[in-house]
Formats: sequence, structure tokens, C-alpha cells
Amino acid sequence: MIADNLKAVTAAIDAAVAEAGGAAGSCRLIAVSKTQPAEAIEEALAAGHRLFGENRVQEAAAKWPALKARYPDAELHLIGGLQSNKVKEALALFDAIQSVDRPKLARAIARHAEELQVAPRLYIQVNTGEEPQKGGVLPAELAALVALVRDELGLPLVGLMSIPPQGEEPALHFALLKKLAARHGLPRLSMGMSGDYELAARMGASEVRVGTAVFGPRKSP
Ligand SMILES: *Cc1c(COP(=O)(O)O)cnc(C)c1O
Repeated sequence: MIADNLKAVTAAIDAAVAEAGGAAGSCRLIAVSKTQPAEAIEEALAAGHRLFGENRVQEAAAKWPALKARYPDAELHLIGGLQSNKVKEALALFDAIQSVDRPKLARAIARHAEELQVAPRLYIQVNTGEEPQKGGVLPAELAALVALVRDELGLPLVGLMSIPPQGEEPALHFALLKKLAARHGLPRLSMGMSGDYELAARMGASEVRVGTAVFGPRKSP
């Protein structure tokens, strides 16, 4: 069933990209496996899927070392908020971090990346809806954070990520994220979830993050 879902979601992404005149394969599916047991992830891996997202370091640390040992080409993205004191552990686990959103975190990543000799691809999370409870840098503060991460710290910054506010038209937020990425010369756009990934793919997402449409309802909070 997970294999069928992967096929269906991938086909819908490819169709959306084609419809918008985008290059085939230009939008990748991140299967968001948070709260899902290792067996469900195994099912996706066995079906050939290799790109996954988790939102908590602790949970990923419990599930992924064993999975990566068996599928070394699996690629794991951190899509949830990251505390500075978990950076070292995160860098050991994740191939990309999509939730960079403040100077202190960027500096901690720089320090530990050098120590561990890793170069994780980074995305800055932008709080396009300017919601107080949500992670992400405010649009007005993005330029300064890009300058710090990319220019001062020399980290591999590849793109932007956002989670639009519930109940708002996601297209407005996707368009803003795209404009901000273009302004800063950042090629990758992580946007779109189960409810709006086709729209995001049409609007130029390079990654969509899809959980429930791949794995079914989440197992526990
Ligand atoms: C959980 C989560 C997703 C996936 O959500 P679905 O609606 O289940 O597709 C995407 N992005 C982030 C940041 C998430 O935390």
C-alpha cells in the first residue's frame, strides 16, 4: 500500500511539473516518515524510495542508523525545528537540514560541521505567514541570515523552506518563497505537503514534503 501511494504521489508530482512546463524530474518527493514505525519506512525503502524527512532528532536517532546501515544511499532531511544543543547529533544523522532559522543555530552548525568534517546541505526556513508560534526567519530578516550562513560562515546553503499558515491560500506563500529564493540566487525550494503538493510542484518546488499521503495517518503525536 505504501508502495502504491509512492507511485501515485510521484505520478501526480510529475504530471504537475509537466503541466507547468517544468523539467521532468525537477521536483523530488520527500517521504515524511515522522511517527511512522521503522517497518513502514522499510516498506518505502524496499519499493525503491530513497528520500525521507523527519522532524525530530531524537526520533530519527532511534530509527535511522539501522535503516541507513541497510540502505546506505537513503537520504534524510531534517524538516523540524532544531535546538542548538542537538546540532551535533543532527549532523551525524541528516544529509540536509531544512530548518535553519537563526544566527545562533547557523553558528552551531558551522562549528560542528567543521569538527565532524561534514557538509550538510542547508535550507533556511522562512516564516512567510509571520506567525509568532512558528519557526522560520521573518522575510525581512532573511537577507541578513543568508549573508551569515552563505557568505560569512561559508556553509552550503541550497534553498528555502516554508510551511504556510493553516487556512490561508498556500499559493501566495509559495509565490513569496519563490521570489525570495530568486532574489538570493538559491536554487532549491522545499514547499508543499499532502494537501497542496501538486500546487507546489506546479509552482516550482524542488522538493515537496509528503507524509500522510504516502504513509497514511500518523501513528502518534
Ligand atoms: C509533518 C510535516 C510534513 C508532512 O505533512 P503531511 O500533511 O502529512 O504531508 C511536511 N512538512 C513538515 C515540516 C512537517 O512537519
